[in-house]
Amino acid sequence: MVSRVIPVDPFDLVIFGGTGDLARRKILPGLYRRFEAGQMTADSRIIGAARGDLTEDAFRALVAESIAEFVPKARQDKAVIGAFLQRLHYIAIDAKGDGGWAQLKEVQRDGVVKAFYFSVAPALFGDIAERLKSHGIAGRDARVVVEKPFGRDLASARALNETLRQHFKEDQIYRIDHYLGKETVQNLMAVRFANILFEPLWKAEYIDHVQITVAETVGVEGRGAYYDTSGAMRDMVQNHLMQLLCLIAMEPPYHFDPDAVRDEKLKVIRALDPVGPDAIVRGQYLAGGGQGGYLDDSENPDSRTESYIALKAHISNWRWKGTPFYLRTGKRLRARASEIAVTFKEPPHSIFDDAEGWRENVLVIRLQPNEGMNLMMMIKEPGPGGMRLMQVPLDMSFADALGADHEEVPDAYERLIMDVIRGNQTLFMRGDEVEAAWAWADPIIAGWETRADRPQAYDAGSSGPEDALMLLHRDGRRWREIR
Ligand code: NAD
Repeated sequence: MVSRVIPVDPFDLVIFGGTGDLARRKILPGLYRRFEAGQMTADSRIIGAARGDLTEDAFRALVAESIAEFVPKARQDKAVIGAFLQRLHYIAIDAKGDGGWAQLKEVQRDGVVKAFYFSVAPALFGDIAERLKSHGIAGRDARVVVEKPFGRDLASARALNETLRQHFKEDQIYRIDHYLGKETVQNLMAVRFANILFEPLWKAEYIDHVQITVAETVGVEGRGAYYDTSGAMRDMVQNHLMQLLCLIAMEPPYHFDPDAVRDEKLKVIRALDPVGPDAIVRGQYLAGGGQGGYLDDSENPDSRTESYIALKAHISNWRWKGTPFYLRTGKRLRARASEIAVTFKEPPHSIFDDAEGWRENVLVIRLQPNEGMNLMMMIKEPGPGGMRLMQVPLDMSFADALGADHEEVPDAYERLIMDVIRGNQTLFMRGDEVEAAWAWADPIIAGWETRADRPQAYDAGSSGPEDALMLLHRDGRRWREIR
């Protein structure tokens, strides 16, 4: 049912940082999966470009290991892996020097899509972009893919945008937010805009509030020093949760077209109110379950960086005036769970006596685990006993609905890389979107930095700090359980 795989045009994809963690865990296994599915044709090439004098064989061996580790066993076929490895090449390159660039120029060929994945630290974007241009490797038709973090505030994001725009036009730049590549996230748009059912109710008049949760069980593990310069607001809210918020709140675009969709998302970000200190709770996990606390992991005993954040956002526009959007994300929580829950208001008048049995309608969009959607509905409790009400889920789990085909659903990176090759920017962040999101986040962060607020400690394996419960409790609401 799922696999209507349409091969993409032949391409040359150069992965700067092709030996790095992201390339090994996500990009290269993802490309193998698309090759195995028949989407990447045999005349395409993947060129690893990184620091380190690897032979082509050594690079292929490294990719073979990545496939063995990160691709499900059922999809590992020796012959297919062998054919895929033949599509790989390697060039030792120095982003900041001269080494390797002439060789990269030499292997260029015409008549294929040219894409350059910057899977390196953002500090190298400028060096690489400049050399791609000065060596005549990337022309007007080239595409560049960049990863998060896209800046750590508005000023640095602007600087990065300017660096990229010196060499490339906006329609050549693909800023990845892998949340946008998730199947359910795209389904959110299908559900909203391909059904008549929800859109008439999709407004403050009928929606009580929205909760967006991204909960992780892992801590900062080995990335403590880096994470301490970031925190949950910069690492998750400004990008991933913001993107989810936009897709929930945006007006219907006139067409499913990259700029039409991104224009509408941008309007949502611009309509966000400032968030005051009363509407924010930050937390840091304590030691527990045999693992250290955030302060051990960050290696800075005085760190004020948050590993958890909950906040209440308001969108000041006609559609959403009065409907709060509660966002929360954190590490070392009870379960790994991401979901969006849209809670509807109660009917204007109840004709039933069973007021106690009544619960709100909630549309739950689960990103993980068990991708799918649930609409919590009221029905009559079956059997005798009069007209008693009960709530049941109208369940659409993708795994159940798609059966064996579910395995075939490409993961976020696979889909996004194929979109780069297809030249479709709909699921990538535009420069002005990223800047608008930082313009909203900056004063919030500056607020707690000037007040020198300390995050509240929370137990590892819990659902976050006590004050986060109070944030909703004060409004007469409660968070959905993290499970
Ligand atoms: P990494 O440190 O594991 O790998 C860095 C790669 O860059 C290596 O291949 C290295 O050889 C290459 N490199 C470094 N300096 C170079 C130079 N001067 N010239 C040429 N090549 C050079 O990093 P990573 O974890 O793979 O992350 C890459 C980028 O992706 C970063 O911007 C990171 O923030 C982002 N990112 C990573 C992840 C992840 O899960 N690892 C997730 C999201 C975003």
